[in-house]
Amino acid sequence: PTSKRKPLIAGNWKMNGLGSSAPEFVTVIGAYMGPMRHAVDLMVFPPATLLTSFATATRGAGVLVGAQDCHPEPNGPYTGDISAEMIADAGGKAVIVGHSERRADHSETDALIRSKAEAAFRAGLVAIVCVGETADEREQKRAAAVVGEQLQGSLPDAAKAENLVVAYEPVWAIGSGLTPTIAEVEEMHGFIRAELAKRFGAESDKFRILYGGSVKPANAAEILTAADVDGALVGGASLKAADFLAIAKAA
Ligand code: PGA
Repeated sequence: PTSKRKPLIAGNWKMNGLGSSAPEFVTVIGAYMGPMRHAVDLMVFPPATLLTSFATATRGAGVLVGAQDCHPEPNGPYTGDISAEMIADAGGKAVIVGHSERRADHSETDALIRSKAEAAFRAGLVAIVCVGETADEREQKRAAAVVGEQLQGSLPDAAKAENLVVAYEPVWAIGSGLTPTIAEVEEMHGFIRAELAKRFGAESDKFRILYGGSVKPANAAEILTAADVDGALVGGASLKAADFLAIAKAA
């Protein structure tokens, strides 16, 4: 990678994975115990049902485990939700907030996502905050405006490079096999870095900005060496250990 920041490769399993998926994950841990460990950070976000067993399996191995969402409150009458404190208690170190599937399918607003990221900080977790435009918004040349507004609304003031990662995921690239051109990726990541600089000053240079959306072994090297790309948030290709590791090796 061209950046001075240590690359982070994060695997978002979404609503996939049963207890029988553990061997895939153990393969990832095993491979990470080698030289890769010094070159790249790895995180895996299984469904909440597997959080404890994955966290236990990774103890001491350096691969971090996290959850795909959290509730802003630490506990209470919120049927079906889990809190950042519960994620930490289960051995999780991070949480994804504001994924486009949650923004779209659960009507999550920037303000809610910001309160979830604040909850993550309070519980000592890293928050990966996702932003990204739809196909229509890109078509209308509003991609940067939309992403700028999401950053403004979703990022807590208390964000630091140790506890916040930004993931740029164009909605139209997720699960579609389509990706922006490298020039488009660099343009957006440069824009995000500049927005972070306006808000967080010198600290902005240390934040990791991940690209997500149809990252696979075949396109990983090109994407991961683009300017201001500090890693990837990988969906589909994170489910197979061989593909996920091939992506991590490209970082
Ligand atoms: P994909 O998903 O890699 O399957 O496109 C990425 C994501 O939604 O985080």
